Amino acid sequence: AKATAGASWLFFDATMKQAAQARLEVEQALGRALAAGEFLLEYQPKFSAGTRQLCGFEALVRWERPDRGRVSPVEFIPAAERTGQIKALGGLIIAMACTQLREWEQTLGGALPVAVNVSPLQFEDPLFAERLLEQLRAHELPPGRFEIEITETAAIGHVERVLPQLAQLRQAGVPIALDDFGIGQSSLTMLRQLPIAAMKLDSSLITPLPASDAAAIVQAACVLGRSLKLEIVAEGVETPAQATSAEALGCTQLQGYLLGRPLPAAIATQLLEQALRK
Ligand code: C2E
Ligand code: CA
Ligand code: CA
Ligand code: CA
Repeated sequence: AKATAGASWLFFDATMKQAAQARLEVEQALGRALAAGEFLLEYQPKFSAGTRQLCGFEALVRWERPDRGRVSPVEFIPAAERTGQIKALGGLIIAMACTQLREWEQTLGGALPVAVNVSPLQFEDPLFAERLLEQLRAHELPPGRFEIEITETAAIGHVERVLPQLAQLRQAGVPIALDDFGIGQSSLTMLRQLPIAAMKLDSSLITPLPASDAAAIVQAACVLGRSLKLEIVAEGVETPAQATSAEALGCTQLQGYLLGRPLPAAIATQLLEQALRK
């Protein structure tokens, strides 16, 4: 028994070492990438339900690795959160979105809101909201042009820290969307507590539409959202049937591959230019 225990300890130790090494490797790679400017934003359009007019964008980060090509945020955001580098990366993402919005204002004479995903760890900086508002001022952006998306799991875990800053942002006119609604816990309490302007129904609720059980849930969520005067965004709309069903059930905005994939800045600019001309 002794020998087994010893062997499993050795194994455990080796696994820990591997994990530590892997972590160090990611940390170094992310650090290099930040220094080398390998991150960029794509912009996925959002559309008003019914009219199907462009009503804004969601900024989604991409890592363009010289050796491996484009890496999905699902692969590196959790790593950046583990290493703490999400603070630097998150700051860069906000700065890039502000720069793009400013460029649109200057070249097109206007813009539509851009939503940026914010990790709960970014709120560990007690001046997060302050710095964000300062950036908007520095870029001469009306606060309503910039939105933030936060997941309910994120908000729940850190209410004391997150809530006052969200309230400050909302007060200053920055709309807040509750992301991935329907897959977290305690959604109802959160909806009442958080100063939000929109709820985004997770694609897992939208994909099964127009099946009647999914439709019942989406409809209930829309009744709730409407009574709280929220925008209700259907995420992951991939088929015409899902789109018409989401609209009929009360969603106010649509987002998904059917209407538009995440786009490089240049293509998003063309789409925006067309929309502003109308
Ligand atoms: P999310 O915020 O829920 O973003 C929606 C994801 O769904 C995006 O994946 C988007 O490309 C994808 N998507 C949009 N429409 C469709 C559709 O019709 N079908 C399918 N199958 N997928 C669709 P992406 O860009 O890979 O981002 C994944 C997640 O990574 C995001 O989920 C978000 O949680 C996180 N993320 C992305 N950008 C950022 C960022 O700048 N900061 C932070 N903290 N997290 C980010
Ligand atoms: Ca999002
Ligand atoms: Ca989402
Ligand atoms: Ca998601």
